Amino acid sequence: MKKKEKCGCGTNDKATSQGGCSAAAGQSPEDFDQLLEEQMLKERMGRIKHKIIVMSGKGGVGKSTIAVNMAISLSLAGRKVGLLDVDIHGPSIPKMLKIEDATVQSLNDVILPVEKAGLKVMSIGFMLRDRDDALIWRGPMKMGVIKQFLKDVEWGDLDYLIIDSPPGTGDEPLSVCQLAQPVDGAVIVTTPQDVAIVDVRKSVNFCQRMNMPVLGVVENMSGFVCPKCGELTEIFKSGGGERMALDMGVPFLGKVPIDPAVGEACDSGTAFVYHYSQTETAKAIERLITPILALSAEKSVTGNIETISNNKTEGGTMKIAIPLADGKLCIHFGHCEQFALVEADEKAKKVIGTIMLTPPPHEPGVLPKWLHEQGANLIIAGGMGQRAQSLFADNGIKVLVGAPAETPEVLVKAYMSGTLRTGANSCDH
Ligand code: ADP
Repeated sequence: MKKKEKCGCGTNDKATSQGGCSAAAGQSPEDFDQLLEEQMLKERMGRIKHKIIVMSGKGGVGKSTIAVNMAISLSLAGRKVGLLDVDIHGPSIPKMLKIEDATVQSLNDVILPVEKAGLKVMSIGFMLRDRDDALIWRGPMKMGVIKQFLKDVEWGDLDYLIIDSPPGTGDEPLSVCQLAQPVDGAVIVTTPQDVAIVDVRKSVNFCQRMNMPVLGVVENMSGFVCPKCGELTEIFKSGGGERMALDMGVPFLGKVPIDPAVGEACDSGTAFVYHYSQTETAKAIERLITPILALSAEKSVTGNIETISNNKTEGGTMKIAIPLADGKLCIHFGHCEQFALVEADEKAKKVIGTIMLTPPPHEPGVLPKWLHEQGANLIIAGGMGQRAQSLFADNGIKVLVGAPAETPEVLVKAYMSGTLRTGANSCDH
């Protein structure tokens, strides 16, 4: 009401400061406010290159643990990363990063994120005086606070915003999908047991309904790593997440074992992937970011198609590089003898031609540059280290790992028909 008194024509301060009279445009002040809000949200989201939501069917499967460590891995790979925790009923990110006592500051209506471990962090946990507060939050209230986090937090220019959503397919993931659109995709975390997997199917169906790609399924707590000898023991039956992913036609990102060091790091607010980077568990978590890094490469694929056009190949074609040993895909990338460079017409789903290339001596950074010069815009590999993957991404080459030891023709045909099955990254060196 106060706003109306300031302007006889029914606009408010914001409207007049934008130089417009909303009544004249036939809009109510509420409509105008809403329009402004939507514009601010769009502008804020427009500065974030990729938004990824981390989901799970059930609580306690390690969703937040995976979200935090994936965000840190991306930051360690040189990307600008934000981490948003909208898990109202169990906001554990502040504890995992040891910032539970942080107070949120705001400046000129803008909320400043808390900075930790190279990440810009905002959590609903900063807003709750005690856990019970969350119990009275209803759908519209949750949507309101999520909107505020997306619109009013000073995220700045980010490569990635990782959003940790509560378990299930309720108001929070729905709000994120509606407000942060386009969301580039979802990472779904599960444990290997059937009880958890039933719920994951619901998450996959949710993504399909929302038209949001599933970047992949992570099977967490898959086997146990002995803290004394490092040996992996299957304590529950493992592979349930992998089978489910295969069954539902979504990518499987890999297994992460139960490792007491993960639990300790979470409890003490230590960045696990950073402090335990040499462990197999940390390497398994680092491999999960492969499809996320590939999103940036995908954006620059268009650029590469132009490069190919400059190289006098038809627009719309692509060049797919495959490391070979004995004529088949070489599972260990570093051991390959030759590369097949397959030119293919993606639209017509046809192979145009294949040439065999002998690579220069393998040295860090040489192959991505060399393959870029050959016009490659996709590499289909078996196993490849995280560092090499980042270098390919930096050279605008998308990387697919976990492909089987097949001939280039079989692999490219399967890729183009959308039936290429990729498993876990089979090696990381
Ligand atoms: P969610 O977000 O799915 O509710 P959390 O990420 O909060 O689950 O994890 C629940 C508990 O399990 C935490 O104490 C965390 O430290 C522990 N945890 C998660 N993943 C692992 C793992 N791979 N090994 C050991 N402990 C884990």
